[in-house]
Amino acid sequence: MAHLSLYRRFRPDSFDKMVRQEHVVRILKNQIEGNAIGHAYLFTGPRGTGKTTIARIFARAVNCEHPREGSPCGQCPTCRALREGSLDISEIDAASNNGVAEMRDLREKVQYPPVTGKYKVYIIDEVHMLTDAAFNALLKTLEEPPAHAIFILATTEPQKIPATILSRCMRLDFKLIPEEDLEKHLKSILDEIGKPYEEEAVAAIARAGAGSDRDMLSIAEACIVYADTLTYDAVCAVLGAADFHETAKLVTAMLTFDLGTAIGSVERILAEGKSVGVLLKDILQLLSRITVAKTCKNAEKLLSLPKELYAEIKSIADKADGRAVLRATEILIKTESELRFVSSPRIALETAILRASHPACDADSEALIVRIGHLEEELKKGTIAAQAVPMPEIAHADTPSPAKETPPDDGFSFPEEEPIFEEAYFSDGAVPRGERAGHAKPAPVPAPAEKASAPQAVSPKPAPVAGGPTGEMSAEVAFGKFMRALRKTPKSGVLFTMCSDLLASYEGETLVLTTESETIYTALRREDHRKAMEEIFAGIGVAAFDVRKQGAKPALKSSIEELKASFGDYPIEIK
Ligand SMILES: [Zn+2]
Repeated sequence: MAHLSLYRRFRPDSFDKMVRQEHVVRILKNQIEGNAIGHAYLFTGPRGTGKTTIARIFARAVNCEHPREGSPCGQCPTCRALREGSLDISEIDAASNNGVAEMRDLREKVQYPPVTGKYKVYIIDEVHMLTDAAFNALLKTLEEPPAHAIFILATTEPQKIPATILSRCMRLDFKLIPEEDLEKHLKSILDEIGKPYEEEAVAAIARAGAGSDRDMLSIAEACIVYADTLTYDAVCAVLGAADFHETAKLVTAMLTFDLGTAIGSVERILAEGKSVGVLLKDILQLLSRITVAKTCKNAEKLLSLPKELYAEIKSIADKADGRAVLRATEILIKTESELRFVSSPRIALETAILRASHPACDADSEALIVRIGHLEEELKKGTIAAQAVPMPEIAHADTPSPAKETPPDDGFSFPEEEPIFEEAYFSDGAVPRGERAGHAKPAPVPAPAEKASAPQAVSPKPAPVAGGPTGEMSAEVAFGKFMRALRKTPKSGVLFTMCSDLLASYEGETLVLTTESETIYTALRREDHRKAMEEIFAGIGVAAFDVRKQGAKPALKSSIEELKASFGDYPIEIK
């Protein structure tokens, strides 16, 4: 006997055996029982949800001599004849017969009366594939159909059907099948063929079916052949999902901003031969599970995973900040949609992971919020790492540089912590030094210290130097000096974070700082921030500065700035 696929072997032959779609079944049954059958139906819905199956059952039921509760009896001569194959039920695949000739042919043949039963039923699958001319030819038939004709048009894309056709059909929408119903269906089939299975394996197959019974059964078929017992591992192997633990490691690293480990994991997984697209999908799936584990009370039941896998997901969810999960998901979804347009998908993936695990390289407010959240968490734990975001290189030797560069282990350099900063930061003794040791991973800038003692941290003010391209300092150097001084200033953590991504350039004598972010721009123009910046710039000898949003026109100098620029050398106090 020829091999029959599971889907065909277990295809329902009566309405009662259908998996879901009860709303459609009920309407059709009532019409058969009430003898109020229409001439044209439109079955719409995702693939594998039972459109063709129901169309076939309906086609036999309308012809059956003694339908049982709306379903064909399967016993009467007509049912038997139709099962053998009859000209009365025609299935047309519009994907391959989409021309006007086929529809004209149909129009001619439909005139002949049925051979076996009462009705001739035409099932036109993928009807949206018809050409415009073919639709017109079909429309003529639908307008004046012979009494014995029934048309069932099936499509996954109802929006492509002309309104003239739509208005002549009774439209029935098929829905995606819920996972639990797919599971139930698969279990009944596995029981029937005597295949032992693990609950988690069935759940995984049902999930992979994504609402489609046909898809689920074809995946199940491959899994059944793979091993004697249907195990979760076998299903993962068949689906080509990357090793869960390696993916979990990657995602954990990404969510805890451990860039080096994250990129290392990508390297290992791709080296095993997984494609970038599959890995991206795995990561997104894991992120979505983490979100569920983080937010839902009955997460374990919802996810229906093997116990140890769930435990691992739960532990990642407990460690991760919700906003970081959300941000990572958004970045990766965007990458997934762009993947087919890029020449090197791998670089796209690595860049996305870099951005997700290194919020300091983004200046948008989302990234800032994630960074601040991370800081708060670190502060709470008392394990704050006093490392900072990359700062502009300081080229001048005359400025004593307290920050010595650590050799970058992941392609990024982070200036080491400065003792003076630390003193100012922790001088109240609230956080014991010992507890803060041993942190090596890149971490964003520390938040402002609330009780730091001020005086010893303020840098000595050198005599003003002329700024600008003609002066001694280039914009980059001036800005670097500013960032150093700012870092030593107590209670300036937030300001430091906001300033860290500014771009500096000179415009005449004015040091112009630009940002792409509206939020940072607005925040930096606030009175208190502006004052703090003014003080520091005065301290390093920059007479005039301006903060601008990228693309915006230069703001008019305030009169105070004008005065300061003109009398920079005079010790005057402007109120
Ligand atoms: Zn019958």
